[in-house]
Formats: sequence, C-alpha cells, structure tokens
Amino acid sequence: MNIHEYQAKELYRQYGVPTPQGFAAFTVDEAVEAARKLPGPLWVVKAQIHAGGRGKGKFKEFSAGEKGGVRLARSIDEVALFAKQMLGATLVTAQTGGEGRKVRRLYIENGSAIDRELYLSAIIDRGSSRVAFIASTEGGMDIEEVAHKTPEKILTISIDPAAGYFPFEGRKIAFALGLAGDQVKQCVKLIGDLYRMFVEKDMSLLEINPLVVTKSGDLLCLDGKMNFDSNALFRHPEILKMRDIDEEDPSEVEASKYDLSYVKLDGSIGCMVNGAGLAMATMDIIKLYGMEPANFLDVGGGATKDKVKAAFKIILSDPNVKGILINIFGGIMRCDVIAEGVVAAAREMAINAPLVVRLEGTNVELGKQILAQSGLTITPADNLSDAAAKITAAVKMKEAA
Ligand code: ADP
Ligand code: MG
Repeated sequence: MNIHEYQAKELYRQYGVPTPQGFAAFTVDEAVEAARKLPGPLWVVKAQIHAGGRGKGKFKEFSAGEKGGVRLARSIDEVALFAKQMLGATLVTAQTGGEGRKVRRLYIENGSAIDRELYLSAIIDRGSSRVAFIASTEGGMDIEEVAHKTPEKILTISIDPAAGYFPFEGRKIAFALGLAGDQVKQCVKLIGDLYRMFVEKDMSLLEINPLVVTKSGDLLCLDGKMNFDSNALFRHPEILKMRDIDEEDPSEVEASKYDLSYVKLDGSIGCMVNGAGLAMATMDIIKLYGMEPANFLDVGGGATKDKVKAAFKIILSDPNVKGILINIFGGIMRCDVIAEGVVAAAREMAINAPLVVRLEGTNVELGKQILAQSGLTITPADNLSDAAAKITAAVKMKEAA
C-alpha cells in the first residue's frame, strides 16, 4: 500500500527525521491558511498523488507555460493561485501514464534553500534477506539512469537484522554522499531513525529523492515515497487509515473487498486462475500465443461461490477484455464451486466475449456438468496450451468478423 507525501512526512516527524514544516490542504482556503502558519518567504505548493515525477509533470488543463505539480510561491497570493490551478486538475507525469491523475489534495510546505540534492532509499533486498540502503550523490535525477550508466555513483549497504544498525554503516553512507563535519553526525542519526521506522512500520520501500543539504549545511528530507507490506497491514491500523482509495484502480479496490489477488493489466484476455504460480503460467502462455493478459487474478484456495462470482464480474467490467480464460486446478479449490460462481455471475451479467474453461482436479466432472447445463456458450479445454490456443483463436476470429 502506498501513502501520500504529506502522510510520509508525518511519519518522518514521529521518528525525528528532519523535514520542512508543512500542512495538507484540500481546498484553496485551507492552502492559504496553511501558508499563513508557515514563516515564508518561500512556500512550496505540492500536488499529492501516488506517483513521482510531479515536479517535471504537466497539467492536462494548462498550456506548456504552466509548470508542474511542485511550484515555488513567493507570496501567499501565489500560493492561492497555484492551489486554485492544481486542485481538480489532471497531472500527467512519467509515472502516471497518459491519462494522468486528478489532484484532490495539496501539501503546502516551507521552501528550503537547497545547496545539494542527494538520493537515499531503503528496500527489502531479497537476495540478502535484509533491509538495504541505497545512496547516491545524484539526487533529484532519474536514479535508474544513474544506476545504468554510472553504477559507481551508487552505494548499497545492507543491515544485518540480528545485529541491527551500527553507526559505522551510517558513516559509510555519509562519506559516499560527500558529507563532512556535523553533517556526518546528522547522517548517522538519520539512517538509524529511518531503519527503525522502516522495520517498525513494516515498509517495503522508502525513497527520499531528494535528500538535501541546505545552504546552512543541514540535512533535510524534501520528498517521501513510502510503500508498506500489505501482508503486515493488519497490525498497523494507523497506516491503513492513510489509505486513499481515490488513488487506486477501482477494480483492484473491489477485488480487495473480496480478498482476491487481482492486478489490472493492459491486455485483452481476462484470466481467472487459482494459485499465483498457475496464474503466472497462464499469463505466460497467453503471451506465447501472441496476445496479452488483461489481468492477473488468483482466486485463492478456499474461494466461495460469492468470491468467484465477484472475480468474474470484475473481469467482465474491464472494457478491454475481449475473451476470458478460466484455468482451474482443483485441489483445495473445488471445480464445482468455480463452476457455480461462474454461472451465477453470468446470469447477472451479459457475456458477449468468448469463454474458454479448463478444469482439472477435485470434482472436475461435477464442475463440467454444471457448466454444460448452464446454457452458457463455453469452450472446454484440456490443458494449458489447448486453452491458450482456443481463447486466442476465438478472440482473433471475433475481431476479424
Ligand atoms: P517529485 O519527485 O514528485 O518531482 P519532489 O518533492 O521531489 O517531487 O519535488 C521536486 C523538486 O522540487 C525537488 O527535487 C526540489 O528541487 C524541489 N522542492 C521540493 N520541495 C521543496 C522545498 N520544500 N523547498 C525547496 N524546493 C523544493
Ligand atoms: Mg522526488
């Protein structure tokens, strides 16, 4: 789960991580009120969306002259003007895709005098099973490009979970970032506080781009991207409260209500599968047969008829879906339950896309019987390649007709 920058900065404050003063605003009036509480003479109006690259982004509604989703204001009147322009407008950045994101919240922050922009992040490094910090002097830029072209400019340090964080690790990062004197001390404390926050809050990603050195020589976190392990959210109601459903794909929100593992993709073949591994194999084989999956969907082991019905409805509600492939290996999940769910959903919604079903395993004969007696037009398949060949052929045939 992702959160907004202003929420990430609340967490910074809780952990003693230095960040500029600021307040969230949902209206122009609130933006002005927030700016009045800050000392000035420079304010930053920042669009809050779950995507980076806001500074270089563009609003659909405005001409190229209007700058992006992070704007420096030199008066309170300017804060009001920028807030008015941004609220309700659609911001397109390198990370939003062409359709962009509607801005519904702002963050009004004190402007900082920046000397240098650095890069710092923490991730779970699966190779070493540890939390790893990644640091670079090349902050504010496209870090993927730095990693690709000048990997020597990136330092990675992983923390041993049993021993915990040691100050010498923070000093290593400080030297890699070209810090000196009191800044080294600040960096050692910063990494320690961030590590504690990362572990205590069950984060999966933390990115501070930029971490800046101010003109007065202090470290300050100017941005905050945080991602939390959704499997651990049950023990963090305070984080769950920060969820912003407006920033999530509506069909994924619907799927999460039913505890379905669903990820929307760009292709045209809707997939309903049980088990993450089988779901991946199904997506692969669709690609092998020359088409693209419209989603990843794992209905899980103990799915009920209602859950299957909800899953089927979610697939059908995607306008890109031109064909559906159901691929079930009945182990804990029984084939008859899947069949009942599909039939129940189909009775409520018109299906005009070809439907290929491959069932195997527990109660397979009963499942096939339920489907056969349903009156639905279903093409049965015997194995993975047979299923993929049939659904891609059916969709191509329908498109040609
Ligand atoms: P994004 O990464 O989405 O573009 P950032 O929060 O990183 O958004 O802001 C983009 C740039 O705007 C930063 O690299 C920095 O140069 C500038 N900036 C952001 N916040 C402030 C601030 N409080 N004071 C001065 N400049 C800022
Ligand atoms: Mg940034």
